Amino acid sequence: MLIGLDLDNTLIGYDQAFLAVAAEMGLVATDFTGTKADIRAALRARPGGETDWQRLQGQVYGPRIDLAEAMPGSCDFIVRARALGHDLVIVSHKTRTGHFDPTGTDLRQAALGWLERQGYFSRLGFARDDIHFEDDRAAKLARIRALAPAIFIDDLAELLDDPDFPAATRAILLDDWAKVSARVLT
Ligand SMILES: [Mg+2]
Repeated sequence: MLIGLDLDNTLIGYDQAFLAVAAEMGLVATDFTGTKADIRAALRARPGGETDWQRLQGQVYGPRIDLAEAMPGSCDFIVRARALGHDLVIVSHKTRTGHFDPTGTDLRQAALGWLERQGYFSRLGFARDDIHFEDDRAAKLARIRALAPAIFIDDLAELLDDPDFPAATRAILLDDWAKVSARVLT
């Protein structure tokens, strides 16, 4: 069967990168601990925080994506799915450039570089054509409808619950990859 996968916060985990870059940019104390959501809450709670948050995102999704990590269990899932003979495709809502990154880094190229360094095009068996970048949620849903995967896995409930999400595709909300693996690959 064909399995569709979201990219950001489904395959790529950004918590460590947000923490490191926020401290580096002087936006949080160097001993600050917490997830991406904790950092966002801390920044937005102060004046000008929204702009700082967007500047930070521009760095983490672009030039500093090297600090992002594979979501725990995601590579094991892919290896197991391949061993069972399933096909895999990635559909991401990712604009080409961020609004608050003065370096103008191509966010899609940055993500492709990350995937390459993680072995997606070697040991994990993806071809470049298996990775689809779309400009917004509507285009992402249209791509999922066109590909018609048996299953689509995403960390965002709003996408899976959207009326335009294809009825014939089984929607799986990512909580924990080991649990998803047990539900899907049996
Ligand atoms: Mg996501």
